[in-house]
Amino acid sequence: MLFQRDKKTSPVAARLAQTAYRDGSSALGPKLPTMRTGEVTPRAVVIGFYRHLDDAMGVLHLGTACQSGCDYCCYYHTVASPMEVFAIREHVMGLDGPERERVFDQLAQNLETIQPLTPDQHNETNVPCPFLVSRHCSIYDLRPVACRRHHCVDVTPCKAAFHDPRTSDR
Ligand code: SF4
Ligand code: SF4
Repeated sequence: MLFQRDKKTSPVAARLAQTAYRDGSSALGPKLPTMRTGEVTPRAVVIGFYRHLDDAMGVLHLGTACQSGCDYCCYYHTVASPMEVFAIREHVMGLDGPERERVFDQLAQNLETIQPLTPDQHNETNVPCPFLVSRHCSIYDLRPVACRRHHCVDVTPCKAAFHDPRTSDR
């Protein structure tokens, strides 16, 4: 079962991700000079990379329990690379006012929750992703690699980890 989002990546998933990264980098290579002039944005770069990653990861998603609206894993401690953060920032700054405010409010709430916690306590606390809206990912095409590679063949441990995060290994 591929369950861990960040701590334990299966060797197959890791290899596929490396391959996708290499292929994506090479596909993007000719465009890199224009990035410096601002003609290619972080969002365009990561979308290009994600296309390769999704192709490579597609074979692993056969037979998983993951489906739209299943959000138990969207309360975990998740990481994103700097380029992914810039791409998401670009997206957020393009949102209309009320939705951008909603994201900022949730980020502020999350910061307040997380700041006093140790890393272990953080891992044991459900914190809603600011991009989770009505149990759906509002940045699905832009979700970071950590989210893209995370999947499970059985939703039972995901539910257990959500309902009792202190006893789960997540
Ligand atoms: S990893 Fe678990 S909680 Fe997340 S979508 Fe898949 S089955 Fe649902
Ligand atoms: S970015 Fe999307 S998939 Fe990832 S944790 Fe947030 S809502 Fe879930």
